[in-house]
Amino acid sequence: MTVADPPLPRLRGRLRPRVPLAPLTWLRVGGAAEWLFQPADADDLAHLLRTRPPELPVVAIGVGSNLLVRDGGVPGVVVRLSRPFAGITFEDGLLVAGAACLDQRVARAALAMGLSGLEFMIGIPGTVGGAVRMNAGAFGGETGERLEWAEVLDPRGERHRLAARELGLGYRRSDLGGEWIVLRAAFRLTPGDPARIRARMEEIRREREQSQPLRVATGGSTFKNPPGDKAWRLIAAAGCRGLRRGRAMMSEKHCNFLVNLGGARASELEELGEEVRSRVRERTGVELEWEIHRIGRPPGGETS
Ligand SMILES: Cc1cc2nc3c(=O)[nH]c(=O)nc-3n(C[C@H](O)[C@H](O)[C@H](O)COP(=O)(O)OP(=O)(O)OC[C@H]3O[C@@H](n4cnc5c(N)ncnc54)[C@H](O)[C@@H]3O)c2cc1C
Repeated sequence: MTVADPPLPRLRGRLRPRVPLAPLTWLRVGGAAEWLFQPADADDLAHLLRTRPPELPVVAIGVGSNLLVRDGGVPGVVVRLSRPFAGITFEDGLLVAGAACLDQRVARAALAMGLSGLEFMIGIPGTVGGAVRMNAGAFGGETGERLEWAEVLDPRGERHRLAARELGLGYRRSDLGGEWIVLRAAFRLTPGDPARIRARMEEIRREREQSQPLRVATGGSTFKNPPGDKAWRLIAAAGCRGLRRGRAMMSEKHCNFLVNLGGARASELEELGEEVRSRVRERTGVELEWEIHRIGRPPGGETS
């Protein structure tokens, strides 16, 4: 498939070839999307999924706060949901948020409605789509605990409303395959005292400020915590705090955070992550699992 030969006619949204993805991710690295698609609405997106050539892969991204895009870019279509998918409504006693809605906005909307249960989202810099896919969580709260259902498109463009229990949510994971796309999510919340909800959010904000590097190019936690332990503790014990490769570094402040010091390549970040995994394995026998999702091809894998 070449850029001169658009594979996807008659889409109403914005379809652009060769769009650099680095500016669309927190880590600020990686190559271009072969195609970047911002659908006009869910039907437009379903049409893309239904009519694409079978060999054309599709992947959705949120705001790239848990994403490492490799230097060779991403083949096929990268779907980035935007404004038409960013609404918040209250339906049948549930707070319903579009997949492109920022978690922090959802947390503030719940506060404004005097609803408790999503305070933890105030500190997560991703979207609702990413939160469902990753079962994002922090400070004792997790997306899945409050999720009632998620509306999704399957890889063939069929729409489903899946109950939370059907999503296979676990620690920073779900059973949603790479080509399933979250459209909306509904949360069951509890009435609460707005002053207490606000105070809890403030507390979370303060604690994050103290413990995490928030104003740098990072992807959040690089590795999942292994059962019964903390990834950061193992990384520190293996002498990897502050470890560098080129312009990539394991943060001094929170050593499970990979940081792009400016000008890093995706390969430097990924290799540094692999070196940390290998040192932790040698030192402790524990196999760290990537929490950051890595997509795309290594350099040299680009299509012409
Ligand atoms: C400073 C910092 C702090 C963080 N703290 C936390 C934390 O406390 N807890 C936590 O859980 N995470 C944390 N993260 C990680 C990240 O914010 C979450 O994982 C978030 O849920 C990712 O959402 P996103 O929209 O950025 O998704 P992306 O990073 O863009 O994508 C992540 C994955 O979700 C998929 N995805 C995104 N949107 C959709 C969609 N609509 N449909 C289907 N799949 C989709 C992507 O394909 C990819 O596999 C932190 C990140 C940073 C940078």
